[in-house]
Amino acid sequence: AASRPASASLRGKRIVVDPGHGGDDPGMIGTTYGTMEKDLNLQTALYLHDDLEAAGARVTMTRTRDDERPSLSARSELAQSVSADAFISIHFNSSPKKISGTLTFFYSESDDLKLARAIENRLGEGIALKSNGVSFGDYHILRTNETPAALVELGFLTNPDDESIVRRASYQRKAAQAIAEGIADYLSQ
Ligand SMILES: [Zn+2]
Repeated sequence: AASRPASASLRGKRIVVDPGHGGDDPGMIGTTYGTMEKDLNLQTALYLHDDLEAAGARVTMTRTRDDERPSLSARSELAQSVSADAFISIHFNSSPKKISGTLTFFYSESDDLKLARAIENRLGEGIALKSNGVSFGDYHILRTNETPAALVELGFLTNPDDESIVRRASYQRKAAQAIAEGIADYLSQ
């Protein structure tokens, strides 16, 4: 119990939650179970939506259904149009290497990096997969975003162990809670 949720800082804040991919873009397909990344992204994002609203935040989703696929520009512009305090994109990873765990990407070395670190610190407190820390990512959705933004990768669908873990609702709930706490930590800085 070294660190406690700082959820009070979420009250009244506007957070945009972006479940990556969608519609005819499934994202990664798990190599062992055939899990579609777009489904994991949406399920986890909906848990995050609920956690953030429970803490008093106002949440805008870039998509809420499986068959929606907003463009990358539309997703980052949405954050600006609602004057969001933070933008979080949810993804699951792939790699030709035998690698496991979570990783959070930032673009700008000011706000994005602080947000990414806060989230990854919470993910690293123990959600069944280890933290690989933060990394610079030249992603359109981060580069074009005028809101503090981070892109979270919540496990490797090319790793059989990771894939079996991330398919579980219990993992998705824990990951969502850790991300919500990380956003709260960032907002209280
Ligand atoms: Zn993805």
